[in-house]
Amino acid sequence: MLYKSTRNKEEKVTASQAILKGLAENGGLFVPEEIPALEVPMEELAAMSYQETAYQVMKLFLTDFTEEELRGCIKRAYDEKFDTEEIAPIRKAKGAYFLELFHGATIAFKDMALSILPHLLIASAKKNQVENEIVILTATSGDTGKAALAGFAGVAGTKIIVFYPKDGVSPIQEKQMVTQKGDNTFVVGIHGNFDQAQTGVKQMFSDKGLAEEMAAAGYQFSSANSINIGRLVPQIVYYVYAYAKMVASGEIASGEALNVVVPTGNFGNILAAFYAKNMGLPLGKLICASNENKVLYDFFSTGTYDKNREFLLTSSPSMDILISSNLERLIYRIAGNDDQKNRELMEALQREGKYGITPEMRAQLSDFYGNYATEEEAAAAIREFYEKAGYVIDTHTAVAAAVYQKYQKETGDAKKAVIASTASPYKFTRSVMAAIDGKYQGRPDFELVDELEALSGVKVPRAIEEIRKAEAVHKTVCEVPKMQDVVKGFLGIA
Ligand SMILES: *Cc1c(COP(=O)(O)O)cnc(C)c1O
Repeated sequence: MLYKSTRNKEEKVTASQAILKGLAENGGLFVPEEIPALEVPMEELAAMSYQETAYQVMKLFLTDFTEEELRGCIKRAYDEKFDTEEIAPIRKAKGAYFLELFHGATIAFKDMALSILPHLLIASAKKNQVENEIVILTATSGDTGKAALAGFAGVAGTKIIVFYPKDGVSPIQEKQMVTQKGDNTFVVGIHGNFDQAQTGVKQMFSDKGLAEEMAAAGYQFSSANSINIGRLVPQIVYYVYAYAKMVASGEIASGEALNVVVPTGNFGNILAAFYAKNMGLPLGKLICASNENKVLYDFFSTGTYDKNREFLLTSSPSMDILISSNLERLIYRIAGNDDQKNRELMEALQREGKYGITPEMRAQLSDFYGNYATEEEAAAAIREFYEKAGYVIDTHTAVAAAVYQKYQKETGDAKKAVIASTASPYKFTRSVMAAIDGKYQGRPDFELVDELEALSGVKVPRAIEEIRKAEAVHKTVCEVPKMQDVVKGFLGIA
């Protein structure tokens, strides 16, 4: 199977090349030429481990990997780093099914893909005779940075450098990053915001002079960004796995439609569900849940994508986003896989901050339902699930749970639904505890960790225990214009 660019159909690459490149030439994204069909019967999938399911799904997309390579990557990714053998367990509460995607090293769903991406990347480099050491350069607003650090730490042949806004992440997120172990890891706080970190990183990616200096010293850059198909493909796995486990436990019959609810930011997670559905998995509605940055809700209800609006800071920061990059893959598809049409729309987005789609394109969005939850509605969902089911959900999952309630009310659809639970409540202790009871308002995150344990009955995760005691090992802070000098310093190419 080959992958082609959403902005230029002439550009075709293998899966391993797409993983190495990340982004296509003119800002396009790589998409598979067609979505493969699931080969294994549901009865067999129902009995499979996470790792075996991963192999059966991923081999259909990553066709230039040998069985041995792919199984090796899967084995090294989904191991004891996860605190449960199930890897992605389903928890039933108040009639809903929560697919817990936060049992990996950094307790957010980014681990599902970022624990395997480094291994896919190394295998891809070998396959394409890349001899340079690979330097992963990432700007983060919190979750991706730590998950990428944990994924790449200690992986031979790679270095990882993460830039984060010094005053723009939560105390737990910062502590998670600056305590990261591993000689090949580098973490830098910048005096600036996330956009500046992101722009600085993009400039380095496109700096030809820098690329030459890097190559002379035996290095090349690569990206762990969520548009990499090496992140998208592993995310398809857990939808297949969840469906199969719902069948195995008798919650649904094989072939019965299952709705999916996804708290959405960059549109990566829900796009993976869409791909799973297109592989033949019997999914029903794909319910796209936004927080108050509801650009996607507006898009689904009007057919116009418009990012010209105020950027709001919410208590679900990983969904605070106005440009949902992975949506481009859906737009390309509903434009009839028309690269020129897609490119025009994306250029309009860049130029004017908005674009509209045709009625014919809109008619193809019937798999999706979009809605959003306000800060109050999300907090109420946390309180309600705690009070009625003794189950504590995080602020992002709460957005999905609140939107699911709206969906049920509006449509009366009684099909069962799986809600993607994207982070452990321990990652956002302050907001979660304040939602449960006003008396916790204003107390620091780390202080509330033990109280959350007592209240939820869920043991404090290793990821939190480790950083409570750990010393900061990364202390570099720099001004925005100095980012490149810092990178050169780390790599010894002054
Ligand atoms: C990244 C993230 C999301 C959003 O996922 P997308 O794939 O960007 O839509 C939701 N919740 C949490 C906790 C995240 O870290």
